[in-house]
Amino acid sequence: MSNCLFCRIIKRDIPASVVYEDDEVLAFNDINPQAPTHVLVVPKRHISTLNELDGGDDHLVGGLVRRAAAIAAERGIAAGGFRTVFNTNRDAGQTVFHIHLHLLGGRGMAWPPG
Ligand code: AMP
Ligand code: ZN
Repeated sequence: MSNCLFCRIIKRDIPASVVYEDDEVLAFNDINPQAPTHVLVVPKRHISTLNELDGGDDHLVGGLVRRAAAIAAERGIAAGGFRTVFNTNRDAGQTVFHIHLHLLGGRGMAWPPG
């Protein structure tokens, strides 16, 4: 997807502050952080929204969640707590249509979210 921002980051056409990479996943700091830790955990394969997932993606999505937890542990925020969010489509405020798991932590958070 040549016009997808996160595909371009994955291809290194656009710079990002990368915190983790393997064959399937790239994690990088959000450019507009909403918490002391705000990392986006992204599959390298383009998937627009959670609505496009199928059963074959279970391993991939599980890997995103486990990676977010591992980064939280590395940052020392696992025990205190952190938030993980997938925004999907308009009502959730999704702006980049390549799925990404937000990892937010390092401060207290309210519930419900806005
Ligand atoms: P969402 O609103 O869930 O689609 O989240 C998209 C996120 O991507 C937002 O938190 C943006 O701040 C973030 N973002 C947009 N452009 C970049 C970029 N070039 N590098 C890192 N994060 C970005
Ligand atoms: Zn993409």
